[in-house]
Amino acid sequence: MSDTIFHKILRREIPAKIVYEDAHLFAFHDIAPQAPVHVLFVPKQDFATLNDVPDSDALVIGRLATAAAAYAKAQGLAEDGYRIVMNCNGDGGQTVFQIHLHLLAGAPLGRFGTP
Ligand code: 5GP
Repeated sequence: MSDTIFHKILRREIPAKIVYEDAHLFAFHDIAPQAPVHVLFVPKQDFATLNDVPDSDALVIGRLATAAAAYAKAQGLAEDGYRIVMNCNGDGGQTVFQIHLHLLAGAPLGRFGTP
């Protein structure tokens, strides 16, 4: 059974600026924002990495994306645009091993993907 910092945030054992929660997922501000808006969307179902999500649970990932889009729309960010990112394992830069989706917005974002 995994127990990451995000599980502790969900249980309100450590503080975070939680901006959304429903039966499936929750969202909160990243502690080290990489853009003016940097919110993490985390499912309540446990998966350490994207590699661990079977096709039968694709909806878990889909909900993260649609929740991020809904948040961006509600915050007036959708028209200007935003980026969603999921990091996987070492080369992807994953540091917390409960899957999560980053929403980055609020300014033009630089290109990405090069080592
Ligand atoms: P990863 O690198 O795994 O894709 O993303 C993990 C993210 O979690 C990082 O952007 C990091 O800043 C954020 N993070 C790590 N610890 C905490 C914490 O205690 N609180 C919050 N709000 N974010 C955290």
